[in-house]
Amino acid sequence: MDLLKYFIEIDLDSINVNANAGNTITHIPTTIEVKFDFIGDYENFNLLKEFEKDKTCVITEITYFESNDKIIKCNGILYNPNKISEFKSIEYVNIEYNKNYVILNHFPIPKYSFKYIDSEVGCSECGSKFNFSELEAEEYDFDGEDYYDTTTKCPKCNTWDCCEIEYETIKNALIRLNTNIIK
Ligand SMILES: [Zn+2]
Repeated sequence: MDLLKYFIEIDLDSINVNANAGNTITHIPTTIEVKFDFIGDYENFNLLKEFEKDKTCVITEITYFESNDKIIKCNGILYNPNKISEFKSIEYVNIEYNKNYVILNHFPIPKYSFKYIDSEVGCSECGSKFNFSELEAEEYDFDGEDYYDTTTKCPKCNTWDCCEIEYETIKNALIRLNTNIIK
């Protein structure tokens, strides 16, 4: 049988320049830790102690000043984010947010992202017509360029290599796009 051949074009409207191109690390936010510090009078400090009593916060460090026994300094962690605004209303309290991350290592993010046009292709074996997206094509990363294997399996009769697909390269699509983003 003669293998049917198709050329799959890139959808020019789908081309985007990736802002993080070349990056191999992504920070994934996990939790937010809310720390506070306080330097003020005992009246406001006692309000903090009230929050600690109902477990909204915990005071981790207290500094007493011998030279000025009207002032007290402390640090702590705020546990209940629903009470942040209430907590902030205490005078002399400063809040600091620390975002915790998980670092994910990966292959460099390609310069462009894009989609292929889901055009119609067909099976050389059974003659069925179907959309390109119904094929089980596999994607590889080859020297930083996206590369698609032309191994294709017919979704109707399950024949492997049921047709031959040629994929447009991003380079070619950029030429078609004829813009000054070409380098
Ligand atoms: Zn088929």
